[in-house]
Amino acid sequence: MSSHAATAPDVQTLDNFIGGRWVKAQTSEFFDVHNPAVGEVIGRTPLSTAADVDAAVQAATKAFPAWRDTPVNTRAQVLYKVKQLMEQHFDEMARIVTTEHGKTLDEARGSVRRGIECIEVAAGAPSLMQGFALEDIAAGIDCHVVRQPLGVAAAIAPFNFPAMVPMWFLPFAIVTGNTFVLKPSEQVPLSQRKMMDFLQKADLPPGVVNLVNGGSEVVNAICDHPGIRAVSFVGSTPVAKHVYQRGTHAGKRVQALGGAKNFVVVMPDADLDRSMGAISESFYGCAGERCLAGSMLVPIGEVHKEARERLVESAKALKVGDGTQPGVTMGPVISAKHRERVLGYIEKGVADGAKLLVDGRQARVPDRPNGYFVGPTVFDEVSPTMAIGHEEIFGPVASICPVKTLDEAIALMKSHPNANATSIFTTSGKAAREFSKHATASMVGVNIGVAAPMAYFPFGGAKDSFFGDLKVHGRDAFEFYTDKKVTISRWF
Ligand code: NAD
Repeated sequence: MSSHAATAPDVQTLDNFIGGRWVKAQTSEFFDVHNPAVGEVIGRTPLSTAADVDAAVQAATKAFPAWRDTPVNTRAQVLYKVKQLMEQHFDEMARIVTTEHGKTLDEARGSVRRGIECIEVAAGAPSLMQGFALEDIAAGIDCHVVRQPLGVAAAIAPFNFPAMVPMWFLPFAIVTGNTFVLKPSEQVPLSQRKMMDFLQKADLPPGVVNLVNGGSEVVNAICDHPGIRAVSFVGSTPVAKHVYQRGTHAGKRVQALGGAKNFVVVMPDADLDRSMGAISESFYGCAGERCLAGSMLVPIGEVHKEARERLVESAKALKVGDGTQPGVTMGPVISAKHRERVLGYIEKGVADGAKLLVDGRQARVPDRPNGYFVGPTVFDEVSPTMAIGHEEIFGPVASICPVKTLDEAIALMKSHPNANATSIFTTSGKAAREFSKHATASMVGVNIGVAAPMAYFPFGGAKDSFFGDLKVHGRDAFEFYTDKKVTISRWF
């Protein structure tokens, strides 16, 4: 929290969006938002308080009765309008994402597209929200089940997908008749500010969606507030666990998605000519700041040497720079602090005896001397006991951990507490089947490097990568945001 922004007159302080209006946060504390490619402050996030959360919950509570009584297809119409606005402003939205987060414009476009797809799936609510019924469960008695909204739902987002992750929740929550409070990451609040403008333009009634900017105080207030019925969280494992425990302790329905350490297994029979692009993209796409990013490359047997050489070649071919510039294939990491953290892991890797094959510490981008760049990095001979072999780095660092058999690779994955995503590269159906069956991670790629379920399938991991029952988007979202009410009737 530097004071730099406070003195720069052109740097905007963000407001909260409550009851259909932009209002000042009740705080004197702010977080500086940076453009990580240039290292400049581009905004100030207010670190809102429990009082701001309360104001948002009151607005959402007030809006709930009329919104839940609004016909479901009318609610869906609002989403069609929002989609249209997002399509019209697609490139603008992607540019905001690149500016606040650092990923390349292509990556940002991909993430905005994924966000729009969530809106499209949620707009299917008239079909997907339906209940079910059975007549004559006893003589003259019928039973029917309807799905009803819960009330006020809240979502807390991480920094790595500023436009997409909030869309995992917002459209599903409101189309099912809930009202909503969103807390974006304080590091990347700008695309969600734009989103609120779209919702307003789409004639969403005031109070149906509210946005409270801030950090941990807002998160804790959301967990504790008695007016909130459901909480969705995406972020690191320790905070996911905290939110799950605190939210469920307060009697809420909670889904909390945590961190990852993803294993990418390469079988000796893998078609590397066709796979290397996907493998490299898994490790270095979005500068490794993806919960689905490959972290450990696990070559089996004799393929070790070739997989290593090809990964080194791919890493060296990447062009690091400002994601808005043409030709750049990898942007900076999110912040100076995170850069230090990733560099710290590279130091630890060296100190622990891993073999550094490509060293990203020296990455320099001449026309962006103050950007938070880390170059693609490759370590070989990494063991799971090393920090780089065990902890989530969340940066462009690939660790190669060779093993002899597929069973060993699976055992390696099983021994890790996280279980988000994993991939296998092979031409053997049998190996793929074995792997997929026994993988602890619940998002599995077969010859796919980033196993990201589309908006109509469930998204989420297992073990310490996911706390809760119902996953994100797809049919699970309709389960999460509704209560099943059963009516049993007899008419005389
Ligand atoms: P983070 O846990 O630091 O922050 C996430 C959210 O929690 C933010 O809104 C932040 O304001 C809040 N927060 C941070 N510290 C807190 C605390 N002590 N108490 C209460 N609230 C707190 O995560 P991040 O750095 O923004 O995002 C990166 C992490 O998110 C990585 O671990 C990544 O794997 C994970 N992630 C997971 C998924 C998934 O689907 N499982 C998706 C995206 C990101």
